[in-house]
Amino acid sequence: MIEFLWLVASVCFILALSGLSTQATARRGNLLGVIGMVLGIGATLASGRPNPLWMVAAMVPAAVLGAVIANRIRMESMPQFVALLHSFVGVGAMLVGVAGYYNHPSETLDAARVVHLVECYLGVIIGAITFTGSVVAFGKLQEWISSKPLLYPGRHMVTGGLFLVSLGLGAAFVMTQGAVPLWVGAALAGILGVLLVMSIGGADMPVVVSMLNSYSGWAAAATGFLLGNDLLIITGALVGSSGAILSHIMCKAMNRSLFNVILGGFGATAAGGPSEEAARLAAKGVKSTAVDDVVELMRISRQVIIVPGYGMAVAQAQHAVREMTELLQKEGATVRYAIHPVAGRLPGHMNVLLAEANVPYPIVLEMDDINQDFSDTDLVLVLGANDIVNPDALENPQSALAGMPVLEVWKSRTVVTIKRGLNPGFAGIDNPLYYRDNSLMLFGDARKMVEGLVNALKGAGHH
Ligand code: NDP
Repeated sequence: MIEFLWLVASVCFILALSGLSTQATARRGNLLGVIGMVLGIGATLASGRPNPLWMVAAMVPAAVLGAVIANRIRMESMPQFVALLHSFVGVGAMLVGVAGYYNHPSETLDAARVVHLVECYLGVIIGAITFTGSVVAFGKLQEWISSKPLLYPGRHMVTGGLFLVSLGLGAAFVMTQGAVPLWVGAALAGILGVLLVMSIGGADMPVVVSMLNSYSGWAAAATGFLLGNDLLIITGALVGSSGAILSHIMCKAMNRSLFNVILGGFGATAAGGPSEEAARLAAKGVKSTAVDDVVELMRISRQVIIVPGYGMAVAQAQHAVREMTELLQKEGATVRYAIHPVAGRLPGHMNVLLAEANVPYPIVLEMDDINQDFSDTDLVLVLGANDIVNPDALENPQSALAGMPVLEVWKSRTVVTIKRGLNPGFAGIDNPLYYRDNSLMLFGDARKMVEGLVNALKGAGHH
């Protein structure tokens, strides 16, 4: 019965993932995930295999803490939060691996015993890399640690060497059944996790978080083998493979290879500076505009595209943006949204915010579906976005963003960018878009400015 319930829970998780793949079915997907989780935990409690009292005693305070933190966390801090959660999975896998060993420290070395020891070792090693790597990713995203990649001579030799020594220690562990190779291996894997993530630049952090998500899945699967828990094996494999697929999708969006991201070092040339063309334009300065002028522009624009970015999330401007959209539509304009795959600070960040504000899905388009339309657009509103509309990504091979596909907003008739100043975005580089002839800046907080536009539009409607 328990095994059967675990199987049903696994099916729920698979259906949850497929439900989450489109907005229309996401709610159902989430619900199935919750049902699967309740079934899984319920069946495990009912199995009585670890004492249910122990489990409840550990789960209740953890669940309370988790609920409080999840409620308090701001949307922009979600990536760090997720990174931190992955670190817990890493610690969990390590503890289970270590416990698996100390429950039976030495026995005759037959095939089953070898398998058991390999499972322990893999759980500990993958867990250690996931743990320290996630902690460093958390530190980088929280800006406690510099987001610059840590580069030192012979970097690949060091990480490659550490990897090989960990493998060797694994063999020694299986042959001697001694605790020392296990602990030394765990320590080295921990150092490897730190070095791997330290060497990855800030702009690649989204991919790293998703890779760590994948690692945490494999760590959970290793734990599942050790505990003989099919649900954990299946769930771990689901997390492991979906994390890997997401990493691949994000790499494609940033025009990088996964291998190249994991080996790190990217972003080290971010100081490369703007191109000559950009420098020439920068000398001309930017054109600052005012709410009333933008409203004038809006009234003569038929095709309008809004490009939201991280600043919209910070300012929580999504509700005002929806209101502005409705007013523009009333004036007869066609308004659409262009979503870059890495806009904001986590995949789907903008979609979540716009959905929260009830912006209808059909007018929210992915980059590939709308990028060719900018040349037929009268007005683009860039709302707290920066890196994702940087023309240098396409035009300046020296740029830290070179090769990343971006929203080609500069092809429209007029681009109005709403942000507080000329601060760079996540990648830390200048954006020549702001110096273009068809570019206007509306300086201020995204929410205050959009609310200003809404009020002015309402006023304009009364004329
Ligand atoms: P950026 O980080 O490039 O730029 C955001 C801009 O918003 C800043 O330049 C800032 O300028 C402005 N801003 C901040 N607060 C406000 C506010 N209250 N009102 C108005 N503007 C504000 O964001 P993008 O969305 O364009 O690009 C995302 C970047 O984040 C990419 O480099 C991506 O690689 C990276 N990333 C993406 C993740 C993902 O999965 N989506 C995860 C982690 C990183 P100013 O201070 O002048 O106002």
